[in-house]
Formats: sequence, C-alpha cells, structure tokens
Amino acid sequence: TLSDRLTSVLQNLRGKGRLSEADVDATAREIRVALLEADVALPVVRAFIAKVKDRAKGTEVSQALNPAQQVVKIVNEELVAILGGETRRLDLAKNPPTVIMLAGLQGAGKTTLAGKLARWLKSQGHTPMLVACDLQRPNAVTQLQVVGERAGVPVFAPEPGNGVGDPVDVSRRGIDEAKRAQHDIVIVDTAGRLGVDEEMMRQAIDIRAAVQPDEVLFVVDAMIGQDAVNTATAFRDGVGFTGVVLTKLDGDARGGAALSVRELTGQPIMFASNGEKLEDFDVFHPDRMASRILGMGDVLTLIEQAEQAFDAEQAEATAQKLGSGQLTLEDFLEQMLAIRKMGPIANLLGMLPGAGQMKDQLAMLDEKHLDRVQAIIRGMTPAERDDPKIINASRRLRIANGSGVKVSDVNELVNRFFEARKMMSQMAGRFGLPGGRSSNR
Ligand code: GDP
Ligand code: MG
Repeated sequence: TLSDRLTSVLQNLRGKGRLSEADVDATAREIRVALLEADVALPVVRAFIAKVKDRAKGTEVSQALNPAQQVVKIVNEELVAILGGETRRLDLAKNPPTVIMLAGLQGAGKTTLAGKLARWLKSQGHTPMLVACDLQRPNAVTQLQVVGERAGVPVFAPEPGNGVGDPVDVSRRGIDEAKRAQHDIVIVDTAGRLGVDEEMMRQAIDIRAAVQPDEVLFVVDAMIGQDAVNTATAFRDGVGFTGVVLTKLDGDARGGAALSVRELTGQPIMFASNGEKLEDFDVFHPDRMASRILGMGDVLTLIEQAEQAFDAEQAEATAQKLGSGQLTLEDFLEQMLAIRKMGPIANLLGMLPGAGQMKDQLAMLDEKHLDRVQAIIRGMTPAERDDPKIINASRRLRIANGSGVKVSDVNELVNRFFEARKMMSQMAGRFGLPGGRSSNR
C-alpha cells in the first residue's frame, strides 16, 4: 500500500524545514507506484503527478505542517478535486418525465442499478418507472421485474409471447406509458455485451435517439481496472454519456478506474454501488474514493504517529542536552521556533519546578524578538552555534553586521543563552533529569 511505500520517504522528510525538489520527487515516485497499483491509467498518473509536483514545489512550507504532511495534503486535495470537481445532482427535466438511460457492458450492474436508483428516488418522493429494453438475454426482463418489485416501482416490459421485441420500440412505448401514468422519472435499462461491440452500440444510440434522455449514465464495474479506460472511451465516442456510476465497490478494487474514467471522459461520477442489495447505493463521495485509492486514512494515521514519535524523540534529546549543559544555539533556535507551535521547551519548562526563574529568558521568546533572534543565530557559523564560547568581540561585530542588528543585541542573546543553559543544567542536576550534571562547556 501507499502507507508502506511512504513510510521511508516520510521518515526522510520529517523534521525538514522546507520541501526540496528531491523530497518532492521521491514522494512523487511512491505516489506514482501506488496509483499504478490502484489501476489508474498511465497517462492519468503522469498528468496527476505533474500537477502535484508543480504545486508542491511552489508551496511555501507552513510552520504548522511538516513537509510530509504537506505533500500528502496536496495529493489528497488534488485527488478529491479531480474526482469531485464537478460532482452534480441528477439533471431533472423541466417537463416530466425525466428520462434516465443506463448504458454499459453486460454484468456492469445496470439492471441492479435501475432498482437501486428507483428505490432511492422513490424515497425522495419521486414516482419512478422502469423500462425493460434489454431483450437480448432470456431472463433480463424477468430480472428487471424482480428488481422493480423489490423497489416497489412499476416496470414497463414487452408483452410476453410476441417473440423477441424491438428494444427501440419498447423504449418509445415505455416513455408514452410513463407520461400517461404520470411518472415523473423513467429509468431505461438497456442490453450490454461482454465487450464493446458495434451492434450493442448501434442499439444504444437508437434508444438514446428514441427516448431523448436527460441523463445517460455509464455504468462501470470498478473491478475491471485498466479496461475501464477503453470501455469508457468507447461508450463516450459511441452512445455518449452525461454521468458515471461505479459499481461493485464492495469488492477489493482500489478504485483507480474512478480516477481514469473521470479524467479521460471529463464526465462526473455521480453514484456508487457497493453490494447486491438495493440499499447498497449512495451518491459518489470524492473524499472517500481518494482515501481508497491512496490508502490515505492509513497515511494520515502514520503521519500522526511519526510526528508524535518525533516530538517525543526531540523532547528527550533536548532534555538530555539541557541536563548535560550541552545545549547549542542551534537547539536554542529550534526550540524557540517550536514555541510558536507550543513546542517541547514550553512543555519541558512547564514540567520543571523552578522554571519561573527563567522569566527573562522566556521573555526573549515573544513573537517580536523571535525574528531578530533567528536572524542573529542564522548569521553565525555552524561552529559558533555549536560552541557559543568561541564568539569573541570580532565575531560579535561580524554577526551583528551580517544580521542587521546591533552588537548589543548579539551580546544580549549570547549572555541570555549562557544563563539559560547554566540554569537548566543546575535544575536538571537538582531534579535528577537524564544526564543531569554541571558542565564547564
Ligand atoms: P447488467 O448486466 O449490467 O444489467 O448487470 P446486473 O445488474 O445484472 O449485475 C450483474 C451481477 O452483478 C449481478 O449478479 C448483480 O447482483 C451483481 N452486482 C451488481 N451491482 C453490484 C455491486 O455493486 N456489488 C456487488 N457485489 N454485486 C453487484
Ligand atoms: Mg441487465
């Protein structure tokens, strides 16, 4: 799953201040594999990854989110946008009846969907009627009648015993009957074949011309994976459709078909079927499908855990350094930045008895000082940050000039840092924190 793949990438990303191009590329590679494993079509994967990379690289890394979270957030947002960008309700006719025609391969779930849709619409106060235009298979009409009975809606079908009727003629008469009996919605079930075939498409086109539907719903089995692309393209170029229904989502398909069909045909996914019973049906939820395709739920949990582990690790490492008097200015800066998001030092100080003595040092951590402190520390060499004792007068002048502050500001920062470090070390010694001993460093 993507969670597994992202684990190592996330570990590399966490704790970094900004998204580098290499980070984004590494994450993108894993997402690419995950999408392909979910059976998303290659051209769709390519376009998607390009979009995500573009956005990730242009994104300013926020203080609140770590880079890994940010990449995942972008992926999720883009996915939801593609899947649901144009989610819409059924287009109801101004002059009833609204005609909904179902199209798709044999076994896609059209007849079952006819019953589900009818039941759902009926529960909303509509008065749907079903029309049986699949005269190909011997039991198709009976199947629709059974489904109609379960849904509690009437079914219009050719009279038995007249030989094989003409589906186009039946569809036309079905609409007339619906008008006469004042049904406000008509659902036209059609025949499919096992594969895309000219005769089937011809018939679908003729039925469409005869009933002038307000909606043509392309019904597609989510389990067919990569084949969904060819099938959807053939139906788009053949009979044409205005919306998509995904079926058999109760299976273990990752749902990549949803993304492919949506991207390649430009038509919205409107409903989802997830079982054989009539109530196993819902309007399509882009966010749920996005989670399904990427295993995002897992990933989000993972990020949370990684963050918690990271915080704990960091707090422990900091406690060690504090106690042993080995805190560097780099740590100091890091901790100060962390304060903005209620980071470890605040918690740490809160837990240390006697932290009240640190008031002066804490005062430095207020927002308006923070930028200056950051500038000063950034103006130091790594060696200076690591061992502030080497910061002599000439270094102080250089740092002050480099970071646009006065030498007295640098002095103040360095002195406060030493005081803080000494105090922390003493407190740690007194209260038995890890590594608690005074140090002359
Ligand atoms: P049609 O040939 O397109 O009319 O497809 P059907 O409606 O006859 O469905 C074909 C088979 O798939 C039937 O056995 C249905 O019970 C089953 N089916 C349809 N939709 C779903 C679904 O969402 N989940 C599951 N598990 N089975 C479904
Ligand atoms: Mg059928």
